[in-house]
Amino acid sequence: MIYRQIIRSFIDYGSFLLSPLSNQRSLRLDRVQFQTLRIALGQMRSCPTNSLLIEAADAPLTVRRLYLAKKFFLNQYSSLSHPLIPKLIRLNNHCTNSPYWRNKELPLLVVAYRVFGIIPIYQSLLPPFFSFEFVSRYSKIPVFVDCGLDKNDTVYGSIFVNSTFNNYLDSILPNYTFIFTDASKLDADARVGVAYHCSSSAHSASLSISKFFSIFSAECVAILEALSYVESEGIKKAAIVSDSLSSLSLLKQNSISSKTPFLIVLIKNTVLKLIQNRFSVAFVWCPSHIGIRGNEFVDMLARDAVQNGAEDNSPPPAQDLWAVCRKSMLNDWNQIWRNSTKGRKLYALQPAPALQTWFHEWDVGRKNITTIGRLRTGHNSLPAHLHKINVVPDTNCRCGYPYCDINHVIFACPLFNQHRPMLLSSLARMGVFGPYFIPHLLSLNNYDILSTICSFLNKTQLPI
Ligand SMILES: [Zn+2]
Repeated sequence: MIYRQIIRSFIDYGSFLLSPLSNQRSLRLDRVQFQTLRIALGQMRSCPTNSLLIEAADAPLTVRRLYLAKKFFLNQYSSLSHPLIPKLIRLNNHCTNSPYWRNKELPLLVVAYRVFGIIPIYQSLLPPFFSFEFVSRYSKIPVFVDCGLDKNDTVYGSIFVNSTFNNYLDSILPNYTFIFTDASKLDADARVGVAYHCSSSAHSASLSISKFFSIFSAECVAILEALSYVESEGIKKAAIVSDSLSSLSLLKQNSISSKTPFLIVLIKNTVLKLIQNRFSVAFVWCPSHIGIRGNEFVDMLARDAVQNGAEDNSPPPAQDLWAVCRKSMLNDWNQIWRNSTKGRKLYALQPAPALQTWFHEWDVGRKNITTIGRLRTGHNSLPAHLHKINVVPDTNCRCGYPYCDINHVIFACPLFNQHRPMLLSSLARMGVFGPYFIPHLLSLNNYDILSTICSFLNKTQLPI
């Protein structure tokens, strides 16, 4: 955490401008990253640097610089008036035509431009926050997010769920017309389906929008489509029913900031205009996949729209393409990790890099993170490893067994017989039975198993 906030932020700032960077200089920056992560994770000096990065869920700096360049480009590209874009276009042409650049590594912003400059994204002269009426930034719209139903209520059956939900709608919004909306993203490479369905008129419509839309933005597009139906049909009392809690929570907030997604600002602005024209518009959250008929129907329409919906080519917001940047950073990192010959013990446990550490959700304490981390990388203070790096003359255990590795210590060494029954009974309680093999137990990535191993090792007082 300290590394990410204090050290990496310094390394990151403007780092994509450093590239193309000589190997020697690049290595000097890499060493800062490696040394800090080694201290943070308590890994041994012998642990390969690529394993350190995987353990810390921190991408190599070369890969990260390209990721940052892409994100920076997207942010500026969404503004029609940003002075960087025409200059970047000129530089790109220069890189294509000038012999100077023929055998040189391209500047990262040019690489980013070549990837994303051809994808239409939402662009505006002003940042979205300033493009809409001032009053829409602070307007309050009625949003109901507590229908009292959740996934557990499915056990009472569809009739119960539907009657409870309909009674709830009638009690909070009597005489309203309810329009269900939903979005569906089945595959990152397929288009995204959005749909709405008006329960009283039985009218529905669906669209297939650009594959770059995030599910959040697609839900917002579905809401906007429903609002335009409300306006065109003159439905004076309309309530939009959506299962997207994230978008409704943002709509519920009284004020918006420059960080509020522009589609939320757009919805607020549209609602405000409707209210000025004497419409009453409200929003209701409904839990998905619990059998609410309107929601199930519109979910089916949205899924169908992925392939069969009318094509709509509205551009997605720039932020939605961040996911593409993240994915390509992971792909680049994955390639480096897969093709490396070092850190193969950890590779067997974790063949693909992740952007979150294995312990990110657990309160395990640094000592245990270090212990498990050293078991994962295979670089620990037991004779089997120390002998490999020429620290001790042999691999013998104190009990006389000729090969003292972690499997021996935990499951066989007679020196720790007194602690073993508790370990084995704990593992059996968790449904884990022998023959035991530590890499297999580590690969399960189960909090209880890992804590049991740690508490056993703590009792043995062996330095790991
Ligand atoms: Zn032993």
